[in-house]
This record gives sequence, C-alpha cells and structure tokens, in this order.
Amino acid sequence: MSDGPPPRSETIREALVTALSGGHALTIKELSASLRVSERELGPHLQHLKRSLRHRDERLEVQPARCLVCGFTFEDRARVKRPGRCPGCRGTRIAPPRFALVVDR
Ligand SMILES: [Zn+2]
Repeated sequence: MSDGPPPRSETIREALVTALSGGHALTIKELSASLRVSERELGPHLQHLKRSLRHRDERLEVQPARCLVCGFTFEDRARVKRPGRCPGCRGTRIAPPRFALVVDR
C-alpha cells in the first residue's frame, strides 16, 4: 500500500470539517474510515476543532454516547471516546458519540 505521505494536521482538520459538514452526524469510526486516519489520531483533532470553532458561526455538536440497553446517556462526558460500560445497567452495548458541524443562526 502506498498512499503517499500521511496527511498533515491541518489537512486532517480540513478534511474533518468537510466530512462533518455533510449534514449528518458521524461516529469517530465512520470519520476514521472516510478520512483514513486512525480513531486514536482523530480524538485530538476533534477536541481542537471544538475549541477552535468557538468564535465562529459553526460549532461542533457532540451527540453523547448512549446505552442501547437502558437508554442511559453519557451527557457529562466531554470525551470523544466511547465509554466502556454503562453505569446504569452495567451493559456494554453502548452507541458511540456522534459528531456534526452545525451553524448557529
Ligand atoms: Zn445501560
């Protein structure tokens, strides 16, 4: 596999913005697949994006992870990673958080 050199940080962020502007919320897994950047690498970029968009019309909306068994929502988690276990039912079937760029008007 030779896909050239890995993209620079700025390029990754631009690609992230483009992917997230598509109109639907994506999981980090989906972003990883479409941008061809590892999930681990995307975490910091998402955090950075969240901070850097503060002074603009757009913002990064994070739809929190949710337990598929009892419906518990991980609202207080400002983290990008999917939590391992539900504090409500101890279940591990947890829908990962989703990300989208929304425009404030
Ligand atoms: Zn649960």
